Amino acid sequence: MPRACRALIVLPLLAAIGCSSNGTPTSPSSAVPSGRGSTRVLMLTATAAFRHESIPAARQAMAGLAASSGEFSLTATEDMSSLSADNLRAYDVVMFALTSGELPLSTAQQAALLDFVMSGHGFIGVHSATDTLYEWPDYGRLIGAYFREHPWTQQGTVIVEDPSHPAAAGVGDRFSILEEFYTFQENPRGRVHVLLRLDAASVGATGDYPLAWVQPFGAGRVYYNALGHFSETWNDVRFQRQLAGAIRWAGFR
Ligand SMILES: [Zn+2]
Repeated sequence: MPRACRALIVLPLLAAIGCSSNGTPTSPSSAVPSGRGSTRVLMLTATAAFRHESIPAARQAMAGLAASSGEFSLTATEDMSSLSADNLRAYDVVMFALTSGELPLSTAQQAALLDFVMSGHGFIGVHSATDTLYEWPDYGRLIGAYFREHPWTQQGTVIVEDPSHPAAAGVGDRFSILEEFYTFQENPRGRVHVLLRLDAASVGATGDYPLAWVQPFGAGRVYYNALGHFSETWNDVRFQRQLAGAIRWAGFR
């Protein structure tokens, strides 16, 4: 990866020009240098259904986090052609942030994304990434669950189930946040390792509502966080801390 691409934020149309053709091909065994700035993240915010107003804030927040942490470089794009086997060789982590609907992915691109993760790379989904690609069941297995509904858009308490995990560390045992809290078609608990759950009582409900989780996928690592509806969430240092930790964890070598 040329240093010129580190922490470079490229607009969608420039994404392929910016970094894709310069990446050194990687295999699970080839070493991507670890340490500061070594993780290369491809952030996709394309939508084929609902489009969140927070997408610009999400992109800006992640660009800021890349620059301030010095731990990863970020390419934000809505160009679906960036999800090709060839282009993915330039990245360590693919992040679906606020995506929605049946994104146009060819069979070859679907295989490329699955191969990317299974061969030892990272996949991160945020908020409506579970409201995405319902018609591709392998994607549901990759991300862990599909969105069902959002019964509560209000202040609620989030319980941190595993504060020792890098993607949930540093935010305390629980925190209160204004969010659009999701429920899922099937509770993923049991199939995934839950990091966050909603304190149901805080929204006047009962039941088990996981909000963030991780799971292995082949030799790769998958992280999902259901928060992120509002721009304020993306600008919340507690949310950013989780995402930075998730990138560190998912992009490990
Ligand atoms: Zn939302």
